Amino acid sequence: MRIAVSYVASLTRPRYGRRMRETHFGYRQVPLSDKQALVDDVFHKVARRYDLMNDLMSAGLHRAWKDALVTAINPPKSGRDFSLLDVAGGTGDVSFRTIAAAGTGTRATVADINADMLSVGRERARERGLDDAVTFVDANAEALPFPDRSFDAVSIAFGIRNVPRIDVALAEMHRVLRIGGRFLCLEFSNVDVPGLDALYELYSFNVVPAIGRAVVGDAEPYRYLVESIRRFPRPNAFADMMRAAGLRRVSHRLMSGGIVALHSGWRL
Ligand code: SAM
Repeated sequence: MRIAVSYVASLTRPRYGRRMRETHFGYRQVPLSDKQALVDDVFHKVARRYDLMNDLMSAGLHRAWKDALVTAINPPKSGRDFSLLDVAGGTGDVSFRTIAAAGTGTRATVADINADMLSVGRERARERGLDDAVTFVDANAEALPFPDRSFDAVSIAFGIRNVPRIDVALAEMHRVLRIGGRFLCLEFSNVDVPGLDALYELYSFNVVPAIGRAVVGDAEPYRYLVESIRRFPRPNAFADMMRAAGLRRVSHRLMSGGIVALHSGWRL
């Protein structure tokens, strides 16, 4: 009898096993399989105002952070061939800056999962006459549609914390990097400067969503962005994830009092 009861119970149990895999979406716990759609909705809402919002929220600082990233990418000033893959590249900012800093042989590929962000990026490339130098590809960071070892450098700026399976995305970015190529990740971090931390907290949770409401008409996407920053692993924990993906000589440097970290690793 006991056998019959446990057999019936096994038929009615959820098919995913005892517990469905969960992750966080900002401060909310959600099924892992739901996160990408929630993230896509955020960037669908903000795409048209994304670049303006970056300037307003960071008081223009994101430009300096991205310039530091481009300096680390170090594209050749000569006409030598050089290929950059910018994952979660959105509206193309990092790619445009890289091309501007480089010689004629440099090409950039922007890979992003959100069609609205890509469409703004394509318009910007057309306006700048950069159609040939920058290519936009609809792609998920967890399953990059590129051959192994096909890029000289791979970057991801303010994108990795939005990806549901960070370990899978890191393994993919390592896979498409050529031997000797450099991986660079720009991401928000943790402010540890006394005084600045309280101010930053106040600004993030009150001012940023208010700017979002005024400019995009909705505070919610910006509440998510701020919460997702707080949930992102600390630099040393992220460094361990990079090593687990196969990256070597892993390091990071903090900028602006720890608001942002620039992580670096090599495929050797
Ligand atoms: N890198 C750009 C920049 O710094 O301006 C855009 C950063 S924006 C905060 C985050 C981007 O990550 C969005 O364009 C979003 O569509 C993209 N994204 C989120 N999940 C992704 C995924 N799984 N694969 C590729 N891109 C993703």
